[in-house]
Amino acid sequence: MTSRIQEVPQRPVAEVLNRIGGERRPAGDGATLERRNPADARWLVSTAPQSTADDVADAVTAAVEAADAWAATAPGKRAELLEAAARVLAARADEIADDIVAEMGKPISAARMEAGRTPKNLELYAAEAIRLTGVTYPSDDAGALVYSERTPVGVVGVITPWNFPLNLASRKIGPALAAGNTVVFKPSPMTPRTGERLGEAFLEAGFPTGVVNTVHGDAAGAHLVADERVTAVTFTGSTAVGRRIHDAINLGRRVQLELGGNNPVVVLADADLEVAANVVARSSFTMAGQACTAAGRILVAESVHDELLERVVELAGTQVVGSGHRAEVTMGPLVDERAVVAMDSTIAAAVAAGAEVVTGGTRLSTADTEHGWFYPPTVLRDADPTMALSCQEVFGPVVGFEKIADLDAALARANDNEYGLTSSVCTRDLASAMRFARSVEAGTVRVNRPTVGAAFNAPFGGIKASGTGTHREQLGPTVMDFYTSLRTVFLGG
Ligand code: NAD
Repeated sequence: MTSRIQEVPQRPVAEVLNRIGGERRPAGDGATLERRNPADARWLVSTAPQSTADDVADAVTAAVEAADAWAATAPGKRAELLEAAARVLAARADEIADDIVAEMGKPISAARMEAGRTPKNLELYAAEAIRLTGVTYPSDDAGALVYSERTPVGVVGVITPWNFPLNLASRKIGPALAAGNTVVFKPSPMTPRTGERLGEAFLEAGFPTGVVNTVHGDAAGAHLVADERVTAVTFTGSTAVGRRIHDAINLGRRVQLELGGNNPVVVLADADLEVAANVVARSSFTMAGQACTAAGRILVAESVHDELLERVVELAGTQVVGSGHRAEVTMGPLVDERAVVAMDSTIAAAVAAGAEVVTGGTRLSTADTEHGWFYPPTVLRDADPTMALSCQEVFGPVVGFEKIADLDAALARANDNEYGLTSSVCTRDLASAMRFARSVEAGTVRVNRPTVGAAFNAPFGGIKASGTGTHREQLGPTVMDFYTSLRTVFLGG
C-alpha cells in the first residue's frame, strides 16, 4: 500500500445557499455549516445554510404552491425538461466530479463515473413520464368502464447520504418529477455543493420555480419529515436515522427507507481463489469501505482460509491511498474524523476479543496524510460474530475473516445478523450457488461477484434492518410505484 496526497489543489470556498421557490437564500438566522476536504481538512470546501424549521417550511410551501400546475403539465413537457436537466448535468460532469471529490473524497475516476451516470438516470426517468400506464378491468356492470389511473403523490421529500451524493439523489428526484410531483431535496451536510449543483440543474433546464427546492443543514431532514404537507419521504442513509424517520411518518403518508448493511462474502472450499480474493478486495476496499453494499465479514471454508487471507492481504497492499484528486489513487480518505475514531475503536475491540490484525489497523499519519482522515485497508483474522465488526455497519476499509465448516454453517452465520442488504458467495458449484441465493437473507445476492454495485434496470433494496423492502420502487421496472398513487374509477354512462 502506498500513500500519496501531496499537492491537494486548493480552490475558493463555495458559498452554498438554499433554493426556495425562485429565491436563493441563506438560513433565516444566517447560521452556516462548513464542509472541509477529507483529504486535507485545512481546505474549507463549502459553507451551507444551517436551515431553520421556518426555512424548511418555506421550501415545502413553495413545493405545495407549485404542485397543481406541475401535476397538470403534459407528460411530454415533463420529459423534455428532464432531458434538458440531463444535458445541463452532462455539460458540467467534470466540474461536478471535482466537487464530489473535494467534499467526500472518493477517487476522481469514481466521481467521474457517478457524474457521468447521473444524466443517464434523468434520461431514463424522462421516458417514464410518458410511459406511465393505467389498467382497465372487466366489469359486471355492462354500462360502466372500470379503470385505474396513476396520479402524483404530491410533495416528495428527498433525503440523501454523502457517499453517492449526485447519482443517488437523481434516482429519487428524477422519478418524482416524471410522475408530476414537486420536490424538496435535502442533501447531506457533507456534500452541500454537490447537492446544490443538482438542484440548480433543474432550474437552469427550465423547470418552473417551486418544482424543485433544495434546503441544507443538520436538522433540515428532521424538519422536512415532520411537515405533514410532505406526502412522501424517500430516504437513503443509516439505519439509526431511518428508524427515527419511520417512527415520525404517520398514516396517510408514504416512506421509502434504504439503510445500512453488514454484508457477508462467503468463500466455499471449491472457489477459484483468485476470483474470490478480488471479490473480497473489491467488496471491502472500494470507496474505502464507505458503501452500503461494502463487505465487512468474510466467511471462509477452513481448507482455503489461509491462502485466501494471504491473497487478500496482497491485494490490500496494491491499494494506492491518498487524495481522490490524484489520478493514481484507488482509495480515498474516510469522510471525517468520527469515521477514523470508529475504525480505531472497532479494531481495538476486535483485537481485545481475540482477533489479530494482519495488515493495516491504525490510521495513516505520515507527513502526507496528517491533515486528512486516512485509514489503510485493514484485514483481521479470527473475527467472530460477537465483534462489532461482524454485526454492525463500520463504514471503513476493514474486513474480519471467520472460518466456516461448510455451506450450512456459512448460511447460518450470514443470516445471524440484523441487516439484509447484499451478499456474495464464491463457488464453482452451481447447486451451492443456487442454495445460497435462495436461503441467504439479503435483498441482493451475487455469485462470484463483489457485493458492491447496483444496476439501474434491476430492483435494489434491503430487507430486515436494511430498509423497508421497497426494492420494486428503487431502480428497476417498477420504480414509479412509489411516486404515484393509484385511483380506481367506475365510469357510468
Ligand atoms: P445519515 O443517516 O447520517 O444521513 C443521511 C441523511 O439524513 C443526511 O442528509 C442527513 O442530514 C439526514 N438526517 C440526519 N438526521 C435526520 C433525521 N432525524 N431526520 C431526517 N433526516 C435526517 O447517513 P450518512 O452518513 O449520510 O450515509 C451513510 C449511511 O447511508 C450508511 O449507513 C449507508 O449504509 C447508508 N446508505 C445506504 C444505501 C442503500 O441504498 N441502502 C446507499 C447509500 C448509503
